[in-house]
Amino acid sequence: MTVYNFSAGPAVLPKKVLKQAQNEFLDYRGSEMSVMELSHRSSLYDDIIKEAEALLRNLMGIPDNYKVLFLQGGASLQFSMLPLNLAIGKKALFVNTGAWAKKAISAAKQVPGVEVEVIASSEDKNFTYIPTVTKDMIDQTAAYLHITTNETIGGITYQNLPDAGEVPIVADMSSNILANDYRVEDFGVIYAGAQKNIGAAGLTLVIIREDLLNNKPVFAPMLDYRVQADNDSLYNTPATYSIYIAKLVFEWLKDMGGQRESYRLAQVKAKLLYDTIDSSTLFKSPVSKEDRSLTNIPFITGDAVLDKQFIAKAEAVGFENLKGHRSVGGMRASIYNAFPLEGIQALVEFMNNFELEYGNGAK
Ligand SMILES: *Cc1c(COP(=O)(O)O)cnc(C)c1O
Repeated sequence: MTVYNFSAGPAVLPKKVLKQAQNEFLDYRGSEMSVMELSHRSSLYDDIIKEAEALLRNLMGIPDNYKVLFLQGGASLQFSMLPLNLAIGKKALFVNTGAWAKKAISAAKQVPGVEVEVIASSEDKNFTYIPTVTKDMIDQTAAYLHITTNETIGGITYQNLPDAGEVPIVADMSSNILANDYRVEDFGVIYAGAQKNIGAAGLTLVIIREDLLNNKPVFAPMLDYRVQADNDSLYNTPATYSIYIAKLVFEWLKDMGGQRESYRLAQVKAKLLYDTIDSSTLFKSPVSKEDRSLTNIPFITGDAVLDKQFIAKAEAVGFENLKGHRSVGGMRASIYNAFPLEGIQALVEFMNNFELEYGNGAK
């Protein structure tokens, strides 16, 4: 049985990458040491982290006036680090698009001296759309405007970025980094946990425009962007193995044709699934059409019992982790860059067969 893993994160990795990691596991490039055993100050490891950064810069077209940081603590720590470094004594603006935006808002509110303003929300319709933000809604004295480019749980995404004027856009890109066509220069800060579209858990990427690095030290050096940047992410021991895996994934993406190709493939894969949902009389997408995510695709039958049956039958034939998030219910297919097209083709076939058996037209 072929297993297809639809997990929202930690998520499927390219088989090729896992095989390469396996081949190098006991003996990295003739060192007779595993990457896991290398000192983070060794020249062998230095090559890995530098190469990872260079590859990412190339893939995303990151301009020279941006720093790339390899941190820990997950995207969730960035919910606190951002206001702590950038917004004390200032206002931080937020768009509330769902579960992750809410967490970012709530963490910012807990940082003393930060004024949090939610300028738009789609909570009125259970976060099934991206609310419109226009420039006149944005206080031009604010430290930043925070958005969640892709809501992993709700399955909505920004096709176009809001115009924030001079206010930098700060983005949680955890679930659609490297699967979009955004331009880095349109953001002040981009951050993402690695375990969705990049690699193994334990690593958080932060891409920050240099002029936004804090000038005043933050009370804890580990939480201070300036300290992390000045030390090239080696202030303390970074997540060495996760950075190595990220490097392998970046190489894999480069060989595939870069971000343009991964974005194109993401569109092809998502379309196949959305077309199936849209032409079905059984399955529905709960999300507004214009704002549909390419990477996290929720769908429902409208009948909780039938949803459960679908998930159980799917699991029995190798479709893992299709259960929707407990806050939304139904099903969710998370199909990041490493998720193979064949897996979507197989799922679509399975859905069509399920519909024949259980749908409105069933005997
Ligand atoms: C998964 C996720 C997070 C949380 O990431 P951690 O690395 O577990 O802290 C935050 N934001 C989004 C959009 C996510 O998908």
